Amino acid sequence: MPKETQKNFEQNMEAMSKMSPVEMQAKIKDLDKICICKKCPTYVGTGENKLTFCAIGKSSIIKKDKGCLCPGCPVQKTLALRWDRYCLKGSGKEQSGMK
Ligand code: SF4
Ligand code: SF4
Repeated sequence: MPKETQKNFEQNMEAMSKMSPVEMQAKIKDLDKICICKKCPTYVGTGENKLTFCAIGKSSIIKKDKGCLCPGCPVQKTLALRWDRYCLKGSGKEQSGMK
């Protein structure tokens, strides 16, 4: 059997856009368990409790960039994300120019 080719970020978003709101919420909840923002110096001590900014977009609380762990996060690989500092710069979709 030929291996399935790795999908790019835009293709992953296209697939996710077909999910129902309930499915999407469940998906983000799953990603929250993998997200490593909680260990990031930019996150720690800010009082923020949201996660997975690559999907939900900017934090309204985090303002100061103290580095970013996203390049080492498994979600980055799973969704083929190519950016960083999603809490400050916006979701993958926003940074890709898709929206
Ligand atoms: S890529 Fe960054 S924002 Fe997205 S889940 Fe991983 S650590 Fe969190
Ligand atoms: S998105 Fe990146 S910079 Fe922001 S808290 Fe998560 S790991 Fe840190």
